[in-house]
Amino acid sequence: MKFASRLVSFDPAPGDRFRPISTPIYQTATFEQEHADEFGEYDYSRSGNPTRSVLEKHLASLENGTRGFCFSSGMAAISTVTKLLRTGDEILDDSDLYGGTCRLFSKVLVRTGITARYADACDPDAFEKQITPHTKLVYVESPTNPLLRVMDLRRIAAIAHAHGALLCVDNSTMSPYLQNPLDLGADIVLHSATKYLCGHHDVTAGAIIVKDEGLAEQIYFSQNAEGNALGPFDCFLLLRGLKTLKLRLDCQQRNAIAVARFLSGHQEINRVYYPGLKDHSAYELQRSQARGAGAVLSFTTGSVEVSQAIAKFTRLFRITVSFGSINSSISLPGSMSHASVPPEVLSQRDLPADLVRISVGIEDEEDLIADLERAITLATQALATTESANV
Ligand code: PLP
Repeated sequence: MKFASRLVSFDPAPGDRFRPISTPIYQTATFEQEHADEFGEYDYSRSGNPTRSVLEKHLASLENGTRGFCFSSGMAAISTVTKLLRTGDEILDDSDLYGGTCRLFSKVLVRTGITARYADACDPDAFEKQITPHTKLVYVESPTNPLLRVMDLRRIAAIAHAHGALLCVDNSTMSPYLQNPLDLGADIVLHSATKYLCGHHDVTAGAIIVKDEGLAEQIYFSQNAEGNALGPFDCFLLLRGLKTLKLRLDCQQRNAIAVARFLSGHQEINRVYYPGLKDHSAYELQRSQARGAGAVLSFTTGSVEVSQAIAKFTRLFRITVSFGSINSSISLPGSMSHASVPPEVLSQRDLPADLVRISVGIEDEEDLIADLERAITLATQALATTESANV
């Protein structure tokens, strides 16, 4: 079956005698057992819940994995991946990662004696040189948030495996519709399901999908032991959002390409970061490992004030952290989603202060471009007025 059919063709309620077409919300903490010494399929919702099981199985199938796990947030999912490590182990990360991930690695994980180091995974040879005998996990996003850098995931997987490390790919900017990291050699694929999987900005959730049964058992153990699984109602909302993933992303991506072309031709915009533009250095690489460039892009203006003013003047692009919703959004990563990056990590990164990140929604393409055009004009006029007042 093609992806559009797979999205909506799954058993919504295995074993349910009423045969509902939509997955019921099993809003129960515990399940009655026939015997005190013999448990049925479900006993306690932290350990397993039928609504969650349907979602986890569906996600595993969409990512071409065998087991899926859903968590209360993307961060909870990332934290669970780190539970595969022990004191003394190291994670080698790409140098452009979501700010919250850096914060978790640098400020929380460090207390357990696990170290995170950062290197440029877009340069695989240099990246490989940073691997040490302690490196047990390689952790990357591709395309990255917020610079939309693309790395050769097949190569990075081969490098990690040659050194006995696992590769975890955060696939949040792509979703399983556009990219399947497990097919490219990754061991673990992770999502902030808050983004495209949900698609409506009404749930915070995370997901992990694996192929290997041994890894699945360890992840299930942590999910149950730590109690960070996604609740039944949120699972229902995610299942509902997922059904339109292809419809949403097809439209969002079409709009994103139009917006990227508009911005790259605009004289007030310095640089557009979007691997769907033919002149992007990773255009071919992105096409070789994904089925599209997604609907998140960023750009610089040469002035923090202008960037801030653009965000202020847009109407359809609302100032919000996060991405992937049907509504367009705009943010300045330096002061918003990536403000939590510790200074020592930030100093190794090239994160322009005037970087604007936008997530393109399903609004009308012409309205989106008109909104940006108006905001850019107002922002540059406002700066010119301030500058002339200061003369
Ligand atoms: N991964 C990426 C790429 C993200 O952008 C985010 C959040 O923005 C996360 C992970 C964390 O996910 P959550 O906010 O659902 O905890």
